[in-house]
Amino acid sequence: MPLESKERGDSQELAPTDAPYTRVHRSARPEGTRIRVGGVEIGGEGFVVAAGPCAVESRAQLDRTARAVAASGASVLRGGAFKPRTSPYAFRGLGRPGLEMLRDVGRELGMPVVTEVLDPGDAGLVADHADILQIGARNMQNYALLEAAGRAGRPVLLKRGLSATIEELLLAAEYVALQGNLDIILCERGIRTFETATRNTLDLGAAVLLGERTHLPVIVDPSHASGRASMVGPLSMAAAAAGVAGVIVEVHPDPRHALCDGAQSVAVSEFPALMGGVASTLAGRGRPFSTPSASLDPETRLEWETERLKGLDRMLVRLARERAAAGLRIDALQSKIGRPGRNAPDAPAWQEGIRGDSCSHLKPVTTSPTD
Ligand code: PEP
Ligand code: MN
Repeated sequence: MPLESKERGDSQELAPTDAPYTRVHRSARPEGTRIRVGGVEIGGEGFVVAAGPCAVESRAQLDRTARAVAASGASVLRGGAFKPRTSPYAFRGLGRPGLEMLRDVGRELGMPVVTEVLDPGDAGLVADHADILQIGARNMQNYALLEAAGRAGRPVLLKRGLSATIEELLLAAEYVALQGNLDIILCERGIRTFETATRNTLDLGAAVLLGERTHLPVIVDPSHASGRASMVGPLSMAAAAAGVAGVIVEVHPDPRHALCDGAQSVAVSEFPALMGGVASTLAGRGRPFSTPSASLDPETRLEWETERLKGLDRMLVRLARERAAAGLRIDALQSKIGRPGRNAPDAPAWQEGIRGDSCSHLKPVTTSPTD
């Protein structure tokens, strides 16, 4: 059977049994795969944010980042202990001590941890410390590694190769699935194109198409896709709008001094704004964030719930203002065509309950402008 889509025509039009990837094909589980890991569901209703440093540099750096991202609503902690670096002279990660830090901080906060495995021989070691095994872009077609990760008894986060086609990514996932492990998360992390202004080009279309072709959850990595911290928020919102399962984002307390990928790392201080933007996008789709794991420590959870409340207030304020303005526009149009407007008297009622940027004193408005 030819594997090239061009020779074969559009593989979506093939009968499921003709697709070269049967186990991960959408038809194998039309309802979609939901993966439960440490109290977090990936591929369910909630949008999952995995966040943390590119590389674990020290316990203090990891602690600070992890607490901050958890308090803003990230539910999975990311961090590299074994780093694949283009230059052999670059910082290649702390190795085992880094894994131990990830395990300890993840446990303390009650967050599942995702970290990369580079060597098939390390799959067991990484699985002993982390909840999700990441296979990086450079290793997407390292078949021995795919098989070792597939056998390690943990969910696998499989990132798309730098120049890999959608079909090649799905076939790589099939290698993991063949080990009896269907807990696979696919990640679109940008591909190489002629463009040099960004590190890679985010192929959001691929993320959407993957969602049609496979039952596996798909997430987006806006950090590696752009290489620029300023783009990570907007691209995270785009991913949320496109309906993917979540995003994985690099965050650092001091990006300028990061040992790895500082230019694309969102500062800890900027992360709440990013989460606010994603929350507004999700609200437009009636979709919540994945709730933080029940085991998240109560103080961090309280912080996150309080931030969430403030965010919801800001959203309500915006919506109430928008509603009042829409009512007035309807009145104006009705009077243009000679009908009486009925919204104007109620518009102040919508405005009245909101002051400044807070809704905390908002009493339920009983009169509806369209009643
Ligand atoms: C990473 O997530 O830190 C990483 C190295 O990603 P990628 O494999 O997508 O380059
Ligand atoms: Mn990185």
